[in-house]
Amino acid sequence: MQKSTKSVMAYQCDWCGNTTESFIVTGEYKHFCRYQTPGHPPTKDCMQDYLDDLKKNPIIPLPNTIYKSDFYS
Ligand SMILES: [Zn+2]
Repeated sequence: MQKSTKSVMAYQCDWCGNTTESFIVTGEYKHFCRYQTPGHPPTKDCMQDYLDDLKKNPIIPLPNTIYKSDFYS
């Protein structure tokens, strides 16, 4: 008996590491879980968490690009 294979799209969240079938993809091709009931705020929104974290911890340029080695000498 042949089982119909249903292809389930699941990705690993780039933020929390969970594998999820409810996700969004960003322009950077990152996948984040997002659980939302229409008409309600998301119950889980890893992209928002990721973006909030980026704001809190901006990516620091490499020391040899902008910062001189004063701090490191
Ligand atoms: Zn997640």
